[in-house]
Amino acid sequence: MAIFDPTIDSSDTIRATWAEVDLGALRRNFRLIREKISAARHVGMMLMVKANAYGHGLVEVTKALSDIADCVGVAVLEEGVLLRREGVNTPIIVMGGIWGDQIPHFIKHDLILSASSVDRLSQIDDAAKAMGRRATVHLKIDTGMERGGIHYFNAHKLQEAAIKCDSVDVLGVYSHFANADAEDLAHAKLQLERFQEVLAFYEKMSRPRPTAHMANSAALLRLPESYFDMVRPGLLLYGIYPSPNVPNNIGVSPAMTWKSRVVYFKVVPPDHPVSYGSTWKSDHPVRVVTIPVGYGDGYFRSMSNRSQVIINDRKHPQVGTICMDQLMVNIECDSAYNGDEVILLGSSESESITVEDMAVWANTVPYEVLTAINARVPRVYI
Ligand SMILES: *Cc1c(COP(=O)(O)O)cnc(C)c1O
Repeated sequence: MAIFDPTIDSSDTIRATWAEVDLGALRRNFRLIREKISAARHVGMMLMVKANAYGHGLVEVTKALSDIADCVGVAVLEEGVLLRREGVNTPIIVMGGIWGDQIPHFIKHDLILSASSVDRLSQIDDAAKAMGRRATVHLKIDTGMERGGIHYFNAHKLQEAAIKCDSVDVLGVYSHFANADAEDLAHAKLQLERFQEVLAFYEKMSRPRPTAHMANSAALLRLPESYFDMVRPGLLLYGIYPSPNVPNNIGVSPAMTWKSRVVYFKVVPPDHPVSYGSTWKSDHPVRVVTIPVGYGDGYFRSMSNRSQVIINDRKHPQVGTICMDQLMVNIECDSAYNGDEVILLGSSESESITVEDMAVWANTVPYEVLTAINARVPRVYI
């Protein structure tokens, strides 16, 4: 069992709320994605583990899969440093934006930087020179996201500057889709065309092209032209399809089951509203159980009176406002006992609650549901 929160010591507590992560399922998903992309030709795969591996546990997921990945992708410097400290020696690329003072830390820990402007690149070159080391970078090209990255129409300036750096090895060049999961692929295709033009620079200059990559999960499922030399599936690796617009046909399965236990049972009389704000009451006596999980764990308050949980292989509605640390469930006339297992996310024998269900209840996307499950919820690896 791995705990990320120093305030919870698993050696002398057994928290009643936990998340089980099936590392075997993640490896299977990785292989299924690999099969899908190698149907065309050999393409590398980046293991996307940013944001605590989409809630599944940064260190454990990386350790369990890095031997079959070509490269590891994180968002911030600290994620990369933690992986290095844990002994991961696969190439690690940090994809998020950086500020100048961080650069020596990247070089010290042998982390690949994303260079998104000529200025930043020369800062990296200077820092490497000053340290007597070489820096490794991927050039970050903005083809239509308007986030970090040099605009596609200025990319040649960055590509030319890269050739002139003495202490920087440019190993890659990449871009990111804004709309590969949308119904209409027109914008994604425009981004793809822009990136292809950026890559034409290397042909024109008769230079070898660094590893080019662009495809996220949605593009991987819909735009084989976007594979280039490597793909970067995130959500799909965790067994979830990014939107209803993408084909869900490669057989990946979710790897996380979020569980809790019944800690209280009571019969609530008619006209006795439940929880803060008295947002729910029954007109007949009902059995209501208390579950020790709440928005303080990442179980969104916006799901109040909308979500369901599985107790003893049956779905029951959550009732009343979700509290920070607890929520209530109406089991009507069913029985449930102290300590009975509750499935918040995942499957029992005949019922299932998906990340997509929770995303609908919380009016958000599956990405946020997974990454919101926070450090107070111990991860248990199976
Ligand atoms: C998060 C991320 C991905 C993965 O996206 P998914 O939609 O989860 O597949 C790929 N590339 C970059 C730059 C990212 O930030």
